[in-house]
Amino acid sequence: MTEQDSVGPKPASPTTRTAQEAVLQSLPFSDQADFKEAQRGFIAAIPDGIVLNERGRALWDLRAYDFLADETAPDTVNPSLWRIARLNMNNGLFKVCDRVYQLRGFDIASMTVIEGDSGVIVIDPLITAEVARAGLELYWAHRPQKPVVAVIYSHSHVDHYGGVMGVTSAEEVAQGKVAVIAPDRFMEELSGENMLAGNVMQRRAQFQFGSLLQKGLRGQIDSGLGKVTARGRTSLIAPTIVIAEATESHTIDGVEVIFQLAPDSEAPAEMHMFLPQFGVLNMAENTTRHLHNFIPLRGSVARDPRIWSRHISNSIVLFCEDTEILICQHHWPTWGRENVKAFLEKHRDLYKYIHDQTVRLMNHGLNAEEIAETVDLPPGLDREWSVRGYYGTVSHNSKAVYQRYLSWYDANPANLNPLPRREAGRKTVAYMGGAVALLERARVDFEAGEYRWVAQVLSHLVFAEPENLSGRELLADAFEQLGYQAESATWRNAYLYGAQELRLGLAKLPPRPMINPGTLAALDAGALFDFMAVRLNPQKAAGRPLRINWHLSDSGERLVMDLQNCTMTHVLGEAADDAAASVRLSREVLVALNVRETQVAAALAAGDLMIEGDATVVAQFFDMLDNFSLMFDVVAPSLAQG
Ligand SMILES: [Zn+2]
Repeated sequence: MTEQDSVGPKPASPTTRTAQEAVLQSLPFSDQADFKEAQRGFIAAIPDGIVLNERGRALWDLRAYDFLADETAPDTVNPSLWRIARLNMNNGLFKVCDRVYQLRGFDIASMTVIEGDSGVIVIDPLITAEVARAGLELYWAHRPQKPVVAVIYSHSHVDHYGGVMGVTSAEEVAQGKVAVIAPDRFMEELSGENMLAGNVMQRRAQFQFGSLLQKGLRGQIDSGLGKVTARGRTSLIAPTIVIAEATESHTIDGVEVIFQLAPDSEAPAEMHMFLPQFGVLNMAENTTRHLHNFIPLRGSVARDPRIWSRHISNSIVLFCEDTEILICQHHWPTWGRENVKAFLEKHRDLYKYIHDQTVRLMNHGLNAEEIAETVDLPPGLDREWSVRGYYGTVSHNSKAVYQRYLSWYDANPANLNPLPRREAGRKTVAYMGGAVALLERARVDFEAGEYRWVAQVLSHLVFAEPENLSGRELLADAFEQLGYQAESATWRNAYLYGAQELRLGLAKLPPRPMINPGTLAALDAGALFDFMAVRLNPQKAAGRPLRINWHLSDSGERLVMDLQNCTMTHVLGEAADDAAASVRLSREVLVALNVRETQVAAALAAGDLMIEGDATVVAQFFDMLDNFSLMFDVVAPSLAQG
């Protein structure tokens, strides 16, 4: 064992090597068609594989993945995952067909560019302004430099709108030079999914994407959907056109686009698009080249795979006859009408199958863990590369179906009100005869390759005795082998990042605003006040009822906010005569107060805030709001709390 091995990451165990070998035998690795398709239409790669910001910092760097040039998977990576990780290295500008291009591999998502009569239409401007700009510039380097005349957001996830300021500006949109088109409920759903639970979701996303892991054979290699999320400035411009009907046809700069709403699928607000002139169907993120998530590991409300499947069915009926090329906003296209139809039918069935079989088994009385252990892909899908669980898995997706119908509770009262993890940990360790006895047995199981159980039982020990370094190390070792074996990129990232935190503790990240001010600034007043309400600290608010009128001077929005019973509510469009204070300020100042870029006193002094009535209550109100910090404990209690 080398010195590196003694602190981890460690080599693959014999059990893991055997498991990788079994994967090689069970899947059709000789089928190389995807490698050809993923390169089809290639025009130019990202220059040097890197995108820098103006200070020269790398926001996107594919060079870190050079090790993926090797065709053969190392024993620390599931061979099936290695395969998609290599496919996801295809990057740059690709021609889909005349007038339809894609920028892939600039971020986890892809950006589609459609050439209109006078300008270009951008579908999904990636996650940050810098990478979206770099994509557009690569496009312009090889195609005529026509201006962006429209931006379409296919759905309400940040990797599909966050880079909008890289392809247009709020001024151009306000002046009517650029239309911004989004599906029904885009803004509402965006604030619900990405903002109210934003802090905890970002923390959990570190596990899902492995963004703080080293890249390498024993580290992060992919995310399933793409490599990893790009860094940089996220932004948002509210849509100027909202698609509200089940299907709507619009002609944008000479290009007919038939929008098909697909709500409550991969995202709560999502839509497919058909381009009849080009025979191109864009399924947004509903049929990417893997099994997607019903609930991603970062967390979300449970998605509805029954409805998701139905939207795919509808797309087949509406568009398949006239479709020659299928594109999505991740991965590579499918060419040929018959291939497209077969592909869509498989994905329609994939989502429905997991839904239906989970519901069947839960009606037979199996609980979520038992169902996850039982359901697997059926014949017809089980050797199909495009439905492998690289992002979602059959296991955690079936648990999401269970949760959607039956909640977290399995109806066994033993699980109704269990002790929380620290108390349960202490009791479990004691009942097992103490840490030494537990570790001795767990080491035997580890040697036997029983990593799932070792992880389960060692987690009790780590929560009971976070300072027990032998316990932390053995738990990390078990996580690591589970990560090496995982076919899902998100499972691999979660396990390997969990191991890293057990070994090295929490990463020290530079200070950052609790929430991106750019996202906050685009939200309406109701969403902003909902966000403040979930930060209200009841200890600070107890016995201090308060009513304040608010007037946002730039948008003209008014609302009356009530604080009673330690609960903050608001009514839009109203003002109360008996409010303790009436506040007039711009949305920008309200956002600055929220992210603590300014304080009430300073904003008053600067003339950015006007208060009629009792000014002190306004400052007191902001003092009642919690700030969230990102790096809270997940895999172990902090050692200091021991
Ligand atoms: Zn996406």
